[in-house]
Amino acid sequence: MSDLITWVALLVFWAMLFAVHLRDSRRALRVVQAAQQAAAVPPPSAALCGCNHHLAFHDRENSRCHAMVEVAVKFQEIPSKTGITRLPLEYKERQCACRRYIGPEPLPTIYAE
Ligand SMILES: [Zn+2]
Ligand SMILES: [Zn+2]
Repeated sequence: MSDLITWVALLVFWAMLFAVHLRDSRRALRVVQAAQQAAAVPPPSAALCGCNHHLAFHDRENSRCHAMVEVAVKFQEIPSKTGITRLPLEYKERQCACRRYIGPEPLPTIYAE
């Protein structure tokens, strides 16, 4: 009978250890996730627009983006089971199609003149 009590006590002990371990690993996971989220958000000083170009590329007057981007202009069409796959053959430099800067506004202290 005392054997059974020992086993139950041991079992409860292990269950408690496991619970603590689970809680700690969950907490560690949350810390990692928070760190990943912080890393994914660019710092406010990185004034990046939705078109992936910096604020400096955007016109001060009309806000259009003047950065050059590579656009595929020639394709090779390859028939496949799921349809036609278009392989880009030739690229040309074009002005970015972005019309308005939508990124975060830079801190006024940086751009104060
Ligand atoms: Zn833009
Ligand atoms: Zn752009």
